[in-house]
Amino acid sequence: MTSDGGYNKPLPNPSFVSQPFWDAAKEHRLTFQRCRLCGTNVFYPRDICPGPDCFGVGTLDWVESSGKGTVYSFTVSYQPAHPSFRDDVPYMLAIVALDEGPRMNTNIINADPKDVAIGMQVEVVWDDVTPEFTLPKFQIVD
Ligand SMILES: [Zn+2]
Repeated sequence: MTSDGGYNKPLPNPSFVSQPFWDAAKEHRLTFQRCRLCGTNVFYPRDICPGPDCFGVGTLDWVESSGKGTVYSFTVSYQPAHPSFRDDVPYMLAIVALDEGPRMNTNIINADPKDVAIGMQVEVVWDDVTPEFTLPKFQIVD
């Protein structure tokens, strides 16, 4: 937060491909893409299917995730990646494997890093950082 209460951290820069993801996030719906030709679940947002031997163009539909997954990997940052994160250290950068398969770069919040381990179950929590943007973050499921 800035002294005037505004959000001063970097924000997403949606493209025509990723805009639907951010629109859904604003409604607290976690989404990814699924190819209607080969069934591959895809994240990050793309316009060409990365499925083996597929490369379908215009074949990726947006579907809703359960918002549940597991910690695939994580690290604890003691050095802010940007000056605006100075007050957040230490914070956790993570890759979460959604139950539907795709992996997502995110933060794990609401936990002490010493209590987090790879393989733990997590669920999405929403951080409404500005009127325009809501960020999906994850917390450990008890
Ligand atoms: Zn495909």
